[in-house]
Order: sequence, then structure tokens, then C-alpha cells
Amino acid sequence: MTPAAHESSTERSLNFIEQIIEEDISAGLHDGRVLTRFPPEPNGYLHLGHAKSICLNFGLAQRYGGQTNLRFDDTNPVTEDTEYVDSIKDDVRWLGFQWAEERYASDYFEQLYTFAETLIQHGLAYVDESTAAEIAAMKGSPTVPGQNSPYRDRTVDENLALFRQMRAGTFPDGAKVLRAKIDMASPNMHFRDPIIYRIKHAHHHRTGDTWCIYPMYDFAHGQSDAIEQITHSVCTLEFIPHRPLYDWFIEKLNIFPSKQYEFARLNLTYTVMSKRKLKKLVEGGFVSGWDDPRMPTLAGIRRRGYTPDSLREFCERIGVAKRDNLIDVGLLEFCIREELNRTTDRVMAVVDDKPIKLVLTNYPEGQEETLHIENNPEDTTSGTRAVPFSRELYVERDDFMEVPPKKYFRLAPGQMVRLKGAYIVRCDEVVKNDAGEVTELHCTYIPESKSGQDTSGINVKGTIHWVSVAHAVPAEVRLYDRLFAVENPAVEEKEMESDDDSAFLSLLNPTSLVVVKALVEPNLADRAVGSRVQFMRKGYFCVDADSTPGHLVFNRTVTLKDAWAKETKKG
Ligand code: ATP
Ligand code: MG
Repeated sequence: MTPAAHESSTERSLNFIEQIIEEDISAGLHDGRVLTRFPPEPNGYLHLGHAKSICLNFGLAQRYGGQTNLRFDDTNPVTEDTEYVDSIKDDVRWLGFQWAEERYASDYFEQLYTFAETLIQHGLAYVDESTAAEIAAMKGSPTVPGQNSPYRDRTVDENLALFRQMRAGTFPDGAKVLRAKIDMASPNMHFRDPIIYRIKHAHHHRTGDTWCIYPMYDFAHGQSDAIEQITHSVCTLEFIPHRPLYDWFIEKLNIFPSKQYEFARLNLTYTVMSKRKLKKLVEGGFVSGWDDPRMPTLAGIRRRGYTPDSLREFCERIGVAKRDNLIDVGLLEFCIREELNRTTDRVMAVVDDKPIKLVLTNYPEGQEETLHIENNPEDTTSGTRAVPFSRELYVERDDFMEVPPKKYFRLAPGQMVRLKGAYIVRCDEVVKNDAGEVTELHCTYIPESKSGQDTSGINVKGTIHWVSVAHAVPAEVRLYDRLFAVENPAVEEKEMESDDDSAFLSLLNPTSLVVVKALVEPNLADRAVGSRVQFMRKGYFCVDADSTPGHLVFNRTVTLKDAWAKETKKG
């Protein structure tokens, strides 16, 4: 999918969930009230897939005058942490959304427990003490019906007593489970007496040691929706087979009739989008942390220099699909590039570990002048900024060739080029060190060729950027590229047929981070962390959080053009 293939995002037809909501509103369902929720499990940082879900859930509510709850789906005490709760709240706010209420599934533990007793009382749940292996063996397969557990026909009283003992902590982990009593021959595996409570003597990040039994996802999610009176519960496609069970619990418990709708999860090229895998990257030290700018986490992408607007635009453009697909990361890059093109100042940075010194032999020694260079030609209100110019300048090594091919319009012996915002110069002499490396270029500048008041009559085809040796400020520049070397790491990992679920690590792009020294315009010295600029001819960059007054650090957000698209065309 190329960016150009996308229509303008402002006018589009309704997606299928919007169609459903409009029908519900016209039918007067819930008096036209719309309440959605975003239900992350606080077991990692949010990623771009979650951004898709956030934009969808909050966007639907905004569109139909409703609201959205932020609900932490914290029913698994072992993997959850308040660090993750805090980061999730930061990320949702940063994306530009405000939830109506902050809820926790763990707030409902008592209510959920009561629901479970209700099921038992109706003869719809029983305590099973088969081992996990026995339960699995009795489950059957999609084509083979399962077998009833020998504990399936306990009396209500017996079940109640045992379940209360489970809660009281009488039994060790795994000794017993509570199962819904539905149908061991159902073609839907989720209906084969699903486990709804398990024993886990574990400390919970909110409820502490109050509980040693915890509800399973299927027994918590729909009921939490019902407790909050969520009207439209939107989730990803893998929950389609869970939907009948979602409805079954709501029906049997006779609670608020929330409804579940499923859309395709976001998959993006050259990255992985599962918290479990992302956690491996962090814990294995393959990245610097959850907010490493190469990570698809919102924390990472924010540090990389992406804006909330660009992410919302991206989510709008990819739309809401009913079938799984893989989105080209080029579209994400397109969205941020478009915005930064409109909003950032063009500045000069010589990004090169070994820049070449340019000496303008006819420019008076000790003289300097201030040039006024337009900040952003795309924005007439952006004004100009002062850039010092002097006899000695730095340029990038790539902007010179001793033996240039045809149509090379940059510096070469005898050749002329324009220095951006300054003068035309001619390269007269090449100075080398003992190792034969070019160290200096001696040039003549054309005084009457000053940008904006050029009377020289000379036409040159190339313009290069530069910084003044005496004024330039050193900086560290981090050039980021795709985290993985292959388009679809998750699929490639499957094809490797390895038992090791870390196999995807071998698919990392070894050059996803290249650190280069740079010399930048002096006015960049005091830009705040997070500020964004365009380094002319190089790309869009932002000031990294590691930056200090004595040590500037810039992250490359995105290149000026899609370099990878060009690569594929060439190949
Ligand atoms: P992961 O597999 O990365 O852990 P998850 O689905 O387990 O993801 P949750 O915290 O349970 O993560 O998800 C919160 C919400 O975000 C859910 O409604 C889920 O469906 C949605 N979501 C998660 N990943 C994606 C994705 N890639 N695209 C769209 N929505 C997603
Ligand atoms: Mg999950």
C-alpha cells in the first residue's frame, strides 16, 4: 500500500462499527447512549496496535457524543505492575484522549466472585479437581467431542462449599478450578466447560493478598463491560470465538447486555507488535528500554520524534478492517514526514564523523558575517534565523568527489557549488594528509553571489549545507532504521519452526542504530528536549532526552524520502 493510494482522511465512508452504532442509535438502543472502553492489561508498555484501539474506542465515543472508560484488565496478578499502569495513562493522554473513568477489573473481584456463586447456585458451574493435564485430555479437539469431568455432577451445596474454601485459601495453587457447566461436545471449544476461576497465591498490585483465586479473562471481561454498562465493546478478531461465551455469561447472570464487536489488529512491517516479544527485546538488552526510539511502543515512537497528530492521522488512514492485514511502515513514516515538512525549521548540520574543512582563500581572515536564512519555506510566518558565516567551514565528505561522475553537481576540483543561504564557491585545491585522505578544500568564493542578492550571473546546479568552524556546536546524532531486517518477523519466526520463542531475535536489523558525530548550527545549542527540526538534505530530527547543555543528542525521526521504497524499485 502506498501513501498516495490513500484518500484524504477528512471525508470517508462509515466503518462497519460506526454503521452498527448508527443503527443502534436510530433503534433507540440504550437511549442512544454510547460508552466504549479501552481495556489494556498492565503487563507492558502500549504499542502502535494499542494506539489503533485507543483511536478507535475514543474516536467512536467522540463521534457519537459518548464517553470512554480506561479499564485496566488486571486479573493476572503475576505479570502486572504499577509502572505499566502509569505509562499507559501517560500514553493515552499524550495521544490526546481523556477517559471518563479510570477503572480496574480488580475493583470488581468481589462482584465477580458473587457472579460465580450465582452460576453455582443455578447449577451452571462446578469445582473440578482434575489436574491441568486431565482437563486438557478431556477437552477433546474441534472434531472430537470432549468428555465430562468426573466432578461435573457435584451438588450445588458441595460446589458452594468447595468454592468458598478455594477463596479462603484452603487449597494450594492448581489444586482446583471453577468451571462453567456448558457443553463438552460444543463445536466451539470455548464452550467446553471453560475454567472461570483458578487458585493463585500471588500478591496483586492493587488488591494485595486479599485474593488467592483469580477470574479468567472470559469471566472478567464481559462482566466488567456489563458492570460499567459499556454499550459497544470493541476488540480484535481473535476474540470472535469468545463472543458466544461473552454473551452466555451476560445472559445467565442477567446483567447489562454489553455487546462485543471485533476488528482486525494492526500489524506493521519490520517490527513486532506483541508486548511479550517487546519485553524480550527490553530484557535481553537488544534495545535500550521500552522507550528506545526503534521500538513500536508509544514511548519509543514519541522519543523518536513522532507527534500525537501524526499517529492519529495514521490510525485514521489505515481504517478499521474486518480482515487481518500487514500495514507498510512507510505509511506511518509518510504521516510524520507530511507534518514535519509543514512545521519544522530547516537547519544545517554536518552529520559526519570526518567532515572536510572548506577554506575560502579570498574571504578576509578574521571576518565574519551573519546570514539570515529562511526557517521554513512551507510556512511564510516562520521567519528567518541568524547563521554565522566565516572563512573556514565544514561540509560533509559525501559532498565532495575528487573524480566525479557526470551529473555530479556538488564539490569537485574546479567545480562550483552554492553554499546554502550564502555564496557560490569554486574548489581550487585539494589538501590531503599523509594517509592520502582529503582534509581541506581551498576554495574561492564569489562575493557578488550572495543568496537573495546574487548579481554574479553564474548558474550552479548544486547546493550543499555547511557550518562555520568557529561557531559550530558538536552533537551526537543517532540514525535509526528499521528494527528488523525482514518485513514480517512474526511470520518468519513461525516459518523457522523453532521451538524457541526467541527465534525472532535473530531477525533483528544489525544496523538499526548508527551513531554519528555532527557539527550543527549554534542556535541549536539550546533547543529543548523533544524539539523537532529538519536537517537540510538529511531528514527530520528531534532533541533526545539524553541531551545535556554540553552534549547535544539528536534522534533521526525519519528520512526526507522513503529510502526503502527506492531500494525495492531498484531491485
Ligand atoms: P499484546 O499481544 O501485545 O500483549 P494484547 O491484546 O494482549 O496485546 P491488551 O493490553 O490486552 O494487549 O490490549 C488492550 C486492547 O488493545 C485490547 O482491546 C486489544 O484488542 C487491543 N490491541 C492489542 N493489540 C492490538 C493491535 N495490534 N491492533 C489493534 N488493537 C490491539
Ligand atoms: Mg492481552
